[in-house]
Amino acid sequence: MALGRPSILPDRVPTVRELLASGGRSFSFEFFPPKTDEGERQLWRAIRELESLRPTFVSVTYGAGGSSRDRTVDIVERLAHDTTLTPVAHFTAVNHSIRELRHLIGRFADAGVRNILAVRGDPPGDPTGEWVQHPEGVLYAEDLVRLIRQVGDFCVGVAAFPYKHPRSPSIESDTDFFVQKCRAGADYAITQMFFQADDYLRLRDRVAEQGCDTPIIPCIMPVTQMSTIARSEQLSGAPFPPDLAARFEAVADDPAAVRRLGIDHGVELCQRLLDEGAPGIHFITFNRSSATREVFERLAPVEALSA
Ligand code: FAD
Repeated sequence: MALGRPSILPDRVPTVRELLASGGRSFSFEFFPPKTDEGERQLWRAIRELESLRPTFVSVTYGAGGSSRDRTVDIVERLAHDTTLTPVAHFTAVNHSIRELRHLIGRFADAGVRNILAVRGDPPGDPTGEWVQHPEGVLYAEDLVRLIRQVGDFCVGVAAFPYKHPRSPSIESDTDFFVQKCRAGADYAITQMFFQADDYLRLRDRVAEQGCDTPIIPCIMPVTQMSTIARSEQLSGAPFPPDLAARFEAVADDPAAVRRLGIDHGVELCQRLLDEGAPGIHFITFNRSSATREVFERLAPVEALSA
């Protein structure tokens, strides 16, 4: 498994908190645990291709099922040992007792992983189904944040929802519970993907109005094909903006034009967010490097952005 590069000692891996506090902007890439050997090869190709962009961190999502969960832990461990990257492990409460959660947090610590993104997770199979708490588990991400903090000196991220979480009855309650989650010990938040800068800016204003200054990193997923649009609605539970959908529909018969529009839109969106003072950008990669790289490289020079 080891690639022959020296391990990064746990106490030398910077946390996202430290990286954000150093004043720079954060650029990060999100991967998911693949199901097949070919998927695994694709993932590591993408990681190696994106490593040279020197992202602030890379994150790996946590699935609902047993084997996918083990793969998340394996990938995060390998990232910590065999690459120069700072890994962030996504971590959910679904179907885990507190005892199991503590054990997993311990595994991350053993691997030198000090950054955990604490999300509640969705019910396996049907993300919109009823959320059932494990009889010996936790109920909200806020509880997960507290648990991680109790176990050790981790840097903890949480999720934020520009359109509100699909389960939240109102924007107000969504904001209140988000702020409560931050106050439970979150160092930063990453948003659900979105496609209009104003959605992010409104979320940031709502949170700031409550006196909460937890940095909120916007999450971007460049559209590269028409199916990404339907997929984004499925993944985020939020509608794709109709006027933007119409622009894609107008070129739907031309895959190259769809991709061009998606990259152009991704660049415009990221640039506006950065101009408005966003603390960085988190890219969903779908384990491929090219679209992320294209958007990233067209932003204002990286040195200027991260200075
Ligand atoms: P919570 O913060 O617990 O919120 C869930 C709902 O409960 C919200 O409606 C909230 O307003 C409400 N609520 C919160 N606290 C309280 C309270 N004290 N009392 C009453 N109501 C409350 N899912 C995965 O399975 N794996 C992943 O790797 C993953 N990564 C993600 C990464 C990001 C950046 C994002 C944005 C989402 C991710 N998700 C992932 C999806 C996430 O798990 C789901 O959206 C989940 O339904 C909500 O998670 P949360 O952490 O926001 O939950």
